[in-house]
Amino acid sequence: MLEVICGGMFAGKSEQLIHRLKRASYANKKIVAFKPAIDNRYSVEEIASHSGQTFRSIAVKNTFDMTEHITNDIDVIGIDEAQFFDPFIVEFVEILSKKIDIYVAGLDLDSAGKPFGSMPHLLAIADKVTKISAVCMKCGADATRSQRLVASTEQVLVGAKDSYEARCRKCWTP
Ligand code: ZN
Repeated sequence: MLEVICGGMFAGKSEQLIHRLKRASYANKKIVAFKPAIDNRYSVEEIASHSGQTFRSIAVKNTFDMTEHITNDIDVIGIDEAQFFDPFIVEFVEILSKKIDIYVAGLDLDSAGKPFGSMPHLLAIADKVTKISAVCMKCGADATRSQRLVASTEQVLVGAKDSYEARCRKCWTP
């Protein structure tokens, strides 16, 4: 089973992922969670939500590094910030989701409004998609976009809160 949790920044994707992993842990499932090593905003050994929830995770550089942590007794895999992983994540998830439950969270769009990394592919092969919205910081409507507040040529700057705002489609400008 594969569920993909997507949306813009500040939508609460990591929070939803942590919620699912914690539920699985209450059911005594064996869980391994990953995040890309480039994201060290709050902690390199935890998935962290903006609201302060955390779940123990392994920071890895690429998909291959994830395979090295997969053992036969694992029931559930969680992956946060999936948009930053290399394209091999698609095959990794496709193969393992035949046997175990995988929850993936990530940005579906970058701040230019373009589909981000392997997320479009992951969304297409998912059994379940949960798309969540933030609140537009300009008008209060549902926000599906991430507005960059500082000039940069990077696809997404790592360092969340001060560089981005959640925006609705109307208030967002690429
Ligand atoms: Zn708005």
